Amino acid sequence: MIYTQEIANHDLLRLDRAHVWHPYTSFTQPGMITAVSHAQGVELHLADGRVLIDGMSSWWSTLHGYNHPVLNQAVIDQLGKMAHVMFAGVTHESAVKLATTLAKITPEGLNKVFFSDSGSVAVEVALKMAIQYWHSQGQAQRTMFLTLKRGYHGDTFGAMSVCDPQSGMHHLFHHALSHHLFAEAPPCGFDDPFQESHIAKFAQMIQQHRQKIAAVILEPIVQGAGGMRFYSPDYLRRVRELCDKNEILLIVDEIATGFGRTGKLFACEHAGISPDILCIGKALTAGYITLAATLCNDKISNGICKGENGIFMHGPTYMANPLACAVANASIDLLLNSDWQTTVANIGQQMRAELAPCKDFSYVSDVRVLGAIGVVELENAVDTSKLMPMFVELGVWIRPFGNVIYLMPPFIISKDQLSKLTSAVLKVVATLTK
Ligand SMILES: *Cc1c(COP(=O)(O)O)cnc(C)c1O
Repeated sequence: MIYTQEIANHDLLRLDRAHVWHPYTSFTQPGMITAVSHAQGVELHLADGRVLIDGMSSWWSTLHGYNHPVLNQAVIDQLGKMAHVMFAGVTHESAVKLATTLAKITPEGLNKVFFSDSGSVAVEVALKMAIQYWHSQGQAQRTMFLTLKRGYHGDTFGAMSVCDPQSGMHHLFHHALSHHLFAEAPPCGFDDPFQESHIAKFAQMIQQHRQKIAAVILEPIVQGAGGMRFYSPDYLRRVRELCDKNEILLIVDEIATGFGRTGKLFACEHAGISPDILCIGKALTAGYITLAATLCNDKISNGICKGENGIFMHGPTYMANPLACAVANASIDLLLNSDWQTTVANIGQQMRAELAPCKDFSYVSDVRVLGAIGVVELENAVDTSKLMPMFVELGVWIRPFGNVIYLMPPFIISKDQLSKLTSAVLKVVATLTK
């Protein structure tokens, strides 16, 4: 019955509650679930008729908004050719075009593209590439990763093992994970003057453990799910130098920051550096179909392919899905053929002005904006389950976590729509108490 008939809204939520597990949620103490019937531009249309402005870009993906005619057409055109084909021993135009474009637009030297299904898997692939590279160099003892506290790299086992072990959401699994090295999160904000002391501990750790470390892995400039922290490009530049000096690989996770979000196409560009291995995902397909990629330079690909195995040991079933590659190509074309730098700068400027009054509340510890990311940081953690209904009541979709309320709107948002988001943040912040 439920397969053939549309489910009435109240039944939908009842059946959802009975059977559907949502991200980071409980069945015994379910929070608010919102049924979306369709979405258009930056608007989510709810099953009960209400309309919300999306301030989250569906977890930082929906660059050009929902139901975009150009992106829809790209999927339809590809669908008429083939929805999928296995990628072992086979290639297709959408994948070749996407890999060629990515090699061109990502930081210098990243020539080889390995496609996968999600950001977490792209991180797993990056970790495996680093380990396989060192194995090929006769240094199989290099299996450790050095990373930063407050980092987030995904939910699968390898990725979890390099997420912040204390404040991150995976402390529950700590005992079951392989243990890596964690340096302090960068203490210098994006505009703060960098001092060598900011990286002294990191430098000491890299020196001390250099024979065991396969790679450094970090999020460039913005630590996302670990607290929306922005740090100095000089810090990232020093990390690259320290990796070079100690002959350690650098993996950069641009899954959240890629495709213009920080004001540069890739956040590495703030520091003018290039990693050995790069992970991208999220906005890659503009929120249409799950797809991620791990890029590496020739040093890595040559090393791995001259090694004992001669091949890289990974291969997802849906690797380089043609529908996903086609929509990624269309999204990148849309982005690069627009004046996205000005768009992002304008969004940033408006958020900076309109979120500034939040600083007046004693319990707000910081208000910061970088690119099209606006963050209000509070002294204490917020109760997301209490705040979500307030935001929905105000006609916006904003999902805070930890002690941050943040905005990452789609790039196509209008001034009025953005004002609706910022005024909702202000209203909700005003209701909080210390
Ligand atoms: C979201 C995210 C991931 C994980 O991506 P999924 O597609 O959710 O698996 C990894 N790294 C960073 C920096 C992210 O923001």
